[in-house]
Amino acid sequence: MVELTGKHLIAGEWVDGAEGFQSAPAHGPARRFAGGAVDHVEAACTAAEDAFAVFGSSTRAERAALLDAIAAEIEARGDAITEIGTQETGLPEARLQGERGRTVGQLRMFARHIEKGDYLDRRHDAAQPERQPLPKPDLKMVQRPTGPVAVFGASNFPLAFSVAGGDTASALAAGCPVVARGHPAHPGTGEIVAQAIHAAVEKTGMPGGVFSLIQGGEHAVGQALVRHPLIRAVGFTGSLAGGRALYDLCAQRPDPIPFFGELGSVNPMFLLPAALEARGGDIAGGWAGSLTQGAGQFCTNPGICVMMEGSAGDAFVEAATATLEPVGAQTMLTDGIANAFRAGRDRVAATSGVRQVLTSTCDRRNATPYLFATSGRQWLADETLGEEVFGPLGLIVRVTDAKEMIAVARSLRGQLTCTVHMDEADTELAGRLIPVLERKAGRLIANGFPTGVEVSDAMVHGGPYPATTNFGHTSVGTLAIRRWLRPVCFQNMPEPLLPGDLRADAD
Ligand code: NAP
Repeated sequence: MVELTGKHLIAGEWVDGAEGFQSAPAHGPARRFAGGAVDHVEAACTAAEDAFAVFGSSTRAERAALLDAIAAEIEARGDAITEIGTQETGLPEARLQGERGRTVGQLRMFARHIEKGDYLDRRHDAAQPERQPLPKPDLKMVQRPTGPVAVFGASNFPLAFSVAGGDTASALAAGCPVVARGHPAHPGTGEIVAQAIHAAVEKTGMPGGVFSLIQGGEHAVGQALVRHPLIRAVGFTGSLAGGRALYDLCAQRPDPIPFFGELGSVNPMFLLPAALEARGGDIAGGWAGSLTQGAGQFCTNPGICVMMEGSAGDAFVEAATATLEPVGAQTMLTDGIANAFRAGRDRVAATSGVRQVLTSTCDRRNATPYLFATSGRQWLADETLGEEVFGPLGLIVRVTDAKEMIAVARSLRGQLTCTVHMDEADTELAGRLIPVLERKAGRLIANGFPTGVEVSDAMVHGGPYPATTNFGHTSVGTLAIRRWLRPVCFQNMPEPLLPGDLRADAD
């Protein structure tokens, strides 16, 4: 039986707050949760720095045991997580169960990843004392954890990108204590996951300051967290506005720190002529499914579809409309996200040169699909058309020729993904398009759909701004650990003073 305390978890203690807030579930009872305050930030960050003295020097086997224990404790609370998760987010049970599997899978993936040790990128330049004109010193390099990090949970993945999501899993794997700011859209789900982490920390004998969860509170709380002098880096998934505000605060600190924000993306999809002609109907069906999956609340939602004018394009529009029309209303994650979706829809609808292909009606916390169309010329003239509308809304851009298609590709801002549908006869055009798209996105997809992000070694869930605030990194896959590490070189350092991973007996 899992019971909610409604409290913060600060360094192993459940702590109340004077200011509380009521959760706003899609269904089921609203509950009171402690609101965060700047005092909680201070206590959590100080405890995280204390814990780093031990945790930063823990062995990889010890951290792998912690990650495995967190995964097992989450599984043990699986039914309770699904129950409250569906209430708070409105997401269906099967989605929550699948996301739980992905979350524990990520934790175990990082456990196995650090056991192998490749991520340490260890390098050794042996000394050459006789070298002329100067002797060469002994140099050993290894990736070391940066220190305590802040993690902002995402609204749209209450498990996999939240309290024990990829940011937390990769930071703990690296040896960095985590201070998490729970998303106020799912505080109960977040608390149960924090209970699982707490139990795992106790079972593995780690210091309590390795993990804290601060619930809700004013923006001042999140701002104090990213400004706190003991915080060394930040992981964030959310809106462009929120992410940019926190990124700017990190840059304005007396000692600026990296802010790894995954922000907005419209994930354009290019349909090349031969593929459009041969299988436009199938692609339209797949696109409509990808666009409406999870009420379109995915950062990889393919909101923009670019294709040539002509009869094959007309047939595609018809097929996409026919697939989207029967899709009913879906519950969105919060009232705020539903309102933002309708505001985005109204903005697109009011844009000159945009035609409404499929309209529908939705209110309160519901979303129904919308489809719009415009010309390549209009797209190139109005950069607001490239702004994300978070939800099931598609915009078809009809270009006159290959030259205009490439101009549309060049006009794109940074994206998480770009997709190209192509057949053999499209190879020449694809060969001109791919190098342009490679500069725009972290992941390029051929003949597929971008929703569904594999958690693996080769995955890149990143891209140039505004898809992320740091194009050299990914927030999904084993490479995500690099965000919390920094290279340190030890010159002529006596063996007993080297970190364990650099000693002669290290595995
Ligand atoms: P959000 O508004 O950016 O919020 C994310 C987190 O940052 C929340 O904990 C939020 O706290 C905090 N925050 C936001 N602005 C802040 C500020 N100025 N100072 C301090 N903290 C701040 O994102 P969201 O709540 O997940 O969803 C809102 C919109 O974000 C959606 O409508 C959608 O447009 C976009 N979104 C995009 C993605 C994506 O992957 N592209 C994913 C999710 C959402 P509060 O909740 O207290 O404001």
